[in-house]
Amino acid sequence: MKRNVLIAGGGIAGMACALSLSRRGWQAQVHERAPAFAEVGAGVQLGPNVTRVLQAWGLGDALKPLAAFPAHLQARSAHTGEVLGALSLGEQMRARYGAPYVTLHRADLHQLLHDAALVQGTQVLADSVVQGIHPEHEAGQEVQAEVLRSGRIMAISADVAVVADGVWSKLRQQLLADGSVQPTGHLAYRTLLRQADLPAHLRSQDVTVWMGPDAHVVHYPVRGGEWLNLVVLTEGQMPGVTADDLQSWNAQLSIAQTEHDLQAALRGACGRLQDIIGAATSWRVWPLCGRTPMQGAQQHAVGRVALVGDAAHPMLPYLAQGAGMAIEDAAVLAQHLGQVGNAPLALAMFAAQRWQRNAQVQRGAVRNGQVFHARGPIRWGRDLALRVAAPMLMDQPWLYGHHVLA
Ligand SMILES: Cc1cc2nc3c(=O)[nH]c(=O)nc-3n(C[C@H](O)[C@H](O)[C@H](O)COP(=O)(O)OP(=O)(O)OC[C@H]3O[C@@H](n4cnc5c(N)ncnc54)[C@H](O)[C@@H]3O)c2cc1C
Repeated sequence: MKRNVLIAGGGIAGMACALSLSRRGWQAQVHERAPAFAEVGAGVQLGPNVTRVLQAWGLGDALKPLAAFPAHLQARSAHTGEVLGALSLGEQMRARYGAPYVTLHRADLHQLLHDAALVQGTQVLADSVVQGIHPEHEAGQEVQAEVLRSGRIMAISADVAVVADGVWSKLRQQLLADGSVQPTGHLAYRTLLRQADLPAHLRSQDVTVWMGPDAHVVHYPVRGGEWLNLVVLTEGQMPGVTADDLQSWNAQLSIAQTEHDLQAALRGACGRLQDIIGAATSWRVWPLCGRTPMQGAQQHAVGRVALVGDAAHPMLPYLAQGAGMAIEDAAVLAQHLGQVGNAPLALAMFAAQRWQRNAQVQRGAVRNGQVFHARGPIRWGRDLALRVAAPMLMDQPWLYGHHVLA
């Protein structure tokens, strides 16, 4: 008999766990609250630490037509437009870390994981809300979940449960009783631009970060390079934002309101950057929420329940690794559950292996934000350092060289 796993949440983390566990012989059942999967979230970058895992799962070839393979990561001054430094991402990255650096649409990554999980026999139930999980079921051999589906509440038992309900995880709050995520005071304005519609000088196949005081802009190609994913990250609060707005990937602002906000945030930006921003015709805004970095293994597993992805370790997107850490979690979880028959022990081993890595990435993302948004003498020192030693400063061997499946 196959052991079974109930997965709460069908985002990147949930689908990655379904795939990795079903590859190890588990019967996975994913419960997703949304009635259908929407094209939310715009672009993601995946470093070699993550593409290495996707390759190990046999997805290397399927990734190729979906992804773009940028040649460089450029750091530029938002004010002068100067290229302060660059890191080669193409062949050099592949040679150094054994896997590529790619950029793609989140929906394409999600579809890739979803389809591969289905092929392995995963069952995906949409419009299915996991309302509660009891890690210590009476018999001691199973977890039990309450699931709301088609207006009915059902009790479902499983050998193991995975909490993958994202940054606003209610299940985490039930299990760990450590409150809800807090707004970080950072906002992400996101849009997609069709490269063919842009004047030639604004098209780009690189990852570019434009750094200004208290704000930065990132753009990179997605969908095989045909689209440019553009994100403006600012510091500040959004007046009139409700709790519901905070829980959506897709809060939409009027274009007039957005242009007003972005002009204020990027006052003094160079003409080229203004032109890129001005090319957008619609924006989505996402107030970024977070928690303090993970403090221990107990935040990753409770009995027969594992917490993964943003539910366990929400992070600022400034190292571009939130989805990446969800995929690393999935790989490690399946490795332990595949090798160790005692499920609580396997989850304890998973938690012990993952929490410090995730905490390190959460801290690194905060530090990167401070560097990107620096002003005054710190900004001056940053720019000088990048001019003389960019490849060394921009590479992240501790991050990209990490082999979760070693
Ligand atoms: C601007 C920005 C840029 C980013 N860029 C990158 C990047 O370049 N690289 C990168 O790796 N990461 C990036 N990230 C982070 C990345 O998108 C997230 O870390 C990742 O999507 C988290 O996946 P998840 O599955 O944990 O959560 P989600 O994708 O949010 O999925 C959670 C799912 O659970 C469902 N759900 C919620 N509650 C329930 C319930 N009770 N029952 C059933 N289902 C439920 C939700 O509907 C949702 O589908 C970025 C984030 C932002 C904001």
